[in-house]
Amino acid sequence: MKNAENLWKFVDTSDYLTYDKQMSKFYLILAILSFCYSSHAQIEYQDSTKYYAFEVNYWFNLHHFLWLESFMNVNKDSTIIEQNLPQSSKFILSQALDFYKKELVDLDLRTSDYMNEFKHWITKQVEPIAHVPPKFERHMSVLKDVSDIYRTHFWPTQKNACINVLEENIQLIRQTEEKFVDSITYLTRQFWQFEKLKVNITYVAKASKWNLRNRPYTTIFPTHVVMNAIGENQVKGNWIELLYHESAHHLILGSSYFIGGTISDVTETMKIKPPRQLGHSYLFYLTGEITKGLLREAGLPYDKTYMERNHVFSKYHSSLGKYLQEYMDRKITLSEATKNIIIAINNMKK
Ligand SMILES: [Zn+2]
Repeated sequence: MKNAENLWKFVDTSDYLTYDKQMSKFYLILAILSFCYSSHAQIEYQDSTKYYAFEVNYWFNLHHFLWLESFMNVNKDSTIIEQNLPQSSKFILSQALDFYKKELVDLDLRTSDYMNEFKHWITKQVEPIAHVPPKFERHMSVLKDVSDIYRTHFWPTQKNACINVLEENIQLIRQTEEKFVDSITYLTRQFWQFEKLKVNITYVAKASKWNLRNRPYTTIFPTHVVMNAIGENQVKGNWIELLYHESAHHLILGSSYFIGGTISDVTETMKIKPPRQLGHSYLFYLTGEITKGLLREAGLPYDKTYMERNHVFSKYHSSLGKYLQEYMDRKITLSEATKNIIIAINNMKK
């Protein structure tokens, strides 16, 4: 804000200014103040499309960065910090990481109640944060203590990567989102969320002990997707496929709704347990195939879906490719497809 004060002096006034000149100075000052304000605002960047509201949030990125670094230190004896920091900065950073290692590293970013509450709270705040609820006070003071170091040494790279990944994909999202939503709501027979879906972009993502890939994650009602900037983004279209998958999670729900309900209905009459995460594998297949079709239509050489490239649910591939595809092509019902898929998967086990 210091610059703004100096600029006040700079444009300060003589008595004989005309009204127009005064007004133009007023607008100049307003522009300067709003720049100073936005440069410290917590939402550093935002853009939206018909169905999505994208944000790059400073504090939420710092939180992800500290969580992943402490996770890598503790579980993998490894680090994501590449540069050499000055000794004094190292000390402050290590204090913040100690807090994460002690209090937060075992909490899953998606499923822990605390992490969820923190995510919803921090991504709604506007600077200056006027009131911090008691349960986040300690956490926020740790973030504030380390903030200058993060802002100087890490944030410029991380922020640019977040903005870049969105800029690289947003036109293609605008071009394909309506057809995607039409197709996936038709096949899942479920309404798309009325409000725009909130998508926060973070540089690093969520990891788990069994899967260190950069994984986006989602909570529903309302849908809040966390996409990340680094990952398999050299495959053009991958980010969009993952976004579409994540944002369609609210259309399949446990054993209710059409997809989950049909799987329960079929397996109950077959008197067997459904194969592990069958509904989720349907979501991968349906969102992947719809996205693949739309990207190709837009001229992108997108040969394989995320599921195929990364061998996700690989034991289900051949039966999904045959029977769920026949359901997509409206040749058989979802019940018929599900029954055939389960028989095929069970036969493979024998
Ligand atoms: Zn999923």
